[in-house]
Amino acid sequence: MRFPRLLPLMLLLGLLCATAANAQSVITYHVAPSVADKTYHIQLDIPHNQDPIVRVQIPVWSPGAYIVGDYAANIADLSATDAAHKPLLVYHPDQNTWEIAAHGAPSLSVQYTVKNVDLEAVDGAPRRGHLTGPRTYLYVVGRKAEPVALSISDPPGAKVWRIATSLDPVEGTANPGTFGTVHDFAAPSYDVLADAPVEMGDFAEDMFTAAGKPHYVVLYGQHDNVDRKKLVDICKRVAETETGFFGGAPYHRYVFEFRAANGRTGGGGGLEHLGSAEIGTITVVDDRLRFVIAHEFFHLWNVKRIRPFVLGPFNYVDPPHTNNLWESEGVTDYYADLLSHRGGLITNDDYLKHLGETITTLQNNPARLKVSADESSWHVWDANNSQGYGGLSYYTKGEMVGLCLDLKIRQVTGGQRSLDDVMRALWGQVRHGEGPGYGEDDIEKTVNRISGQDLSGFYDLLARSHEEMPLADCLAYMGLTLTRSIQPTVVSDLQMNVRPDRQFSALVVNSVEPDGAAAKAGVQVGDRLQAVNGVTDMRAMFQTLRATAPGKTLTLSLLRNGNPVDVTYTMGSRDQYPWQVTVNPSAPSEAVRLRQQWLSGK
Ligand SMILES: [Zn+2]
Repeated sequence: MRFPRLLPLMLLLGLLCATAANAQSVITYHVAPSVADKTYHIQLDIPHNQDPIVRVQIPVWSPGAYIVGDYAANIADLSATDAAHKPLLVYHPDQNTWEIAAHGAPSLSVQYTVKNVDLEAVDGAPRRGHLTGPRTYLYVVGRKAEPVALSISDPPGAKVWRIATSLDPVEGTANPGTFGTVHDFAAPSYDVLADAPVEMGDFAEDMFTAAGKPHYVVLYGQHDNVDRKKLVDICKRVAETETGFFGGAPYHRYVFEFRAANGRTGGGGGLEHLGSAEIGTITVVDDRLRFVIAHEFFHLWNVKRIRPFVLGPFNYVDPPHTNNLWESEGVTDYYADLLSHRGGLITNDDYLKHLGETITTLQNNPARLKVSADESSWHVWDANNSQGYGGLSYYTKGEMVGLCLDLKIRQVTGGQRSLDDVMRALWGQVRHGEGPGYGEDDIEKTVNRISGQDLSGFYDLLARSHEEMPLADCLAYMGLTLTRSIQPTVVSDLQMNVRPDRQFSALVVNSVEPDGAAAKAGVQVGDRLQAVNGVTDMRAMFQTLRATAPGKTLTLSLLRNGNPVDVTYTMGSRDQYPWQVTVNPSAPSEAVRLRQQWLSGK
């Protein structure tokens, strides 16, 4: 289904011909946004069929977010027809799968509705929408590797309906100066299509060039008060520094997609893609946002292309396990700050301060001595929190594994080699994104090969053991001193564990500390947290919980056995011992030389 816009007749005929040709040659998704009922109506055209039964599936997770969700709950009214519009029988054997009795029909169409999508109207007129692939596109089982096409129509009544996405327009790979008239796109596979979120309608847009490629900064939501000049400057400097690190930009175009909301500070989190990043809820362009931008951009190499074998091509219904999420996420954190420092976005003092903060988080967490970096990665699906397992974040631990590996390689090679060389070697190993991912043990092997030494024992200690990390020793190689304050500071502590449910509709309480703040408020295991101070957006709830000071009260709206219960919760607290990284003024000159090399990247 497609609603062509008013275009000159010749151009319109040309577009229709191109679309018709695509529909005949490749699997094609026609998306019709319906703002009134917040749905996408999808027509999925499947050519070249040879199977008596065609199976289509909706994913249960989105690559990059290691959380299982019930995306099928939003799929409705699925039906199928053959080329003569004759209805075909559809069977729904399990939650995520539909089987169509095609009886060898050479081509067929599947129609379905995606409910509860992000579409907005202003004064009754369609204003904007955001589409994420895994929640929207069913894939044809056995045909995910084929090229696909996407065609998005204007919702009736829309005044402006532009499309921002990293996908190639069907006219070719050259991108127009701004996103605008193109509504038809192509992707080499389902994975690439599903990985390219789409912002549509009316949005703010800026553009810059880095590494010879166009980069777009797209802002939607309540963005009138956002300092766009500052935001674009950060994106540009991050892009220049990180493409410089890897030696080029392995994409046709890159799109930063920011959702703004009044009153929110910093980056509320993001999701990485091959040619774009979705970054949530910002108004104030601050250092927290700089960090999120640098992190998501580094991911376009590390995890999207330099990835464990199992992270692409993806199994969307049986989430894959890997030991290496600490590398994918934690080493990405490590470089987000280190390369920001090298690119002049943060000062030397800021960089050392950030390191101290991460060490403070890790060293005040008893889980560091019970769970390894590998275990935190492998078992993330058990926690279903996209953070880690057993209370240990693979972000925090992984950043410190990256730090120790980098400093150790620099020390044993006298500054001749570093983790930078390991990352670039892995980049070569995955054939600059064209080849398959790396093996589970390839990081260790590459560290040994690049350093010219057997560092397996050291690697085991960092990534596979429950032992303390040699942080102070590694920092001393660079002439830095690590100290723990003897005076604790009092920090917020929820004293309960919450995680999103499968439907992503509420946070579920999965543990409550005895006699802690949550227990005293009457919170129980199994309660569904539906609002915090009346706010129901999940990310906003998380942010509020994280940002509330000890002793402050919140109203938690819970659902217990189907009954609504409001409780007054007083934020708990615990002692935390701050750690600091400082320059040792009497360090040997060799350590000073290594530190300068490390911090400058030269
Ligand atoms: Zn990440």
